[in-house]
Amino acid sequence: MGFAIAIDGPSGVGKSTAARILAEKLGFVYIDTGAMFRGLAVYFLDNGTDINDEKSVCDAVADVIEEIRYIDGEQHVLVNGEDVTGRLRTGDVSRAASVTSQYQPVRRKLLELQRRMAESTDVIMDGRDIGTVVLPDARLKIFMTAQPEVQAERRYLQLKETGKLGDETLESILADIKERDYRDSHRENAPLRKAEDAVELDTSLLSIDQVLDAVMKLLEEKKNA
Ligand code: C5P
Repeated sequence: MGFAIAIDGPSGVGKSTAARILAEKLGFVYIDTGAMFRGLAVYFLDNGTDINDEKSVCDAVADVIEEIRYIDGEQHVLVNGEDVTGRLRTGDVSRAASVTSQYQPVRRKLLELQRRMAESTDVIMDGRDIGTVVLPDARLKIFMTAQPEVQAERRYLQLKETGKLGDETLESILADIKERDYRDSHRENAPLRKAEDAVELDTSLLSIDQVLDAVMKLLEEKKNA
């Protein structure tokens, strides 16, 4: 295994923004595992799979081939050969990813791919179970948190800035985030939780630069330990 940094935490706490910038700074590969669950969710929705029916999802997942490719440094998700990267960030896909990621065959399908990607290169991987399940030997583990209102505000601004704000309001985004984080934390398989050896970082009052500084400091401490 290369040098691995694991960043876990609920949605909208700044994991992916921090991980992407840090990967570039450090020359590591950034692996967004949420995008992998979202890719499968796109497939289930397109396929008309009843996402609330575990058996239907588990049958459908057997037919999917998911691949990750890097194009101009950006992670792309391919499902049965189709690049679905541009379709991952909608409310429906977020919800479907959270519901279907509860099922063990869905997680198993992606676990192998995630571990393989970290085998031969230095990676920063973000998700929900990276420090606890996917890469338990990661050299640095960070568990990022933020107040739910801050999470919702960040997500709202992100959607607005990227022109992707549909009929969502700040209130509906907050409700969605709370529901998703509750489900992710209370599921039986690989629930969202802080690994014992992870460092908790509350980003509610921090700018992105302050988050990056904090992670770089933790990384230096690990390297010198
Ligand atoms: O991080 P993101 O919001 O893109 O993740 C979408 C969903 O994928 C999460 O709500 C969670 O249910 C699932 N997920 C997971 N394990 C991971 C990453 C994401 O279960 N490592």
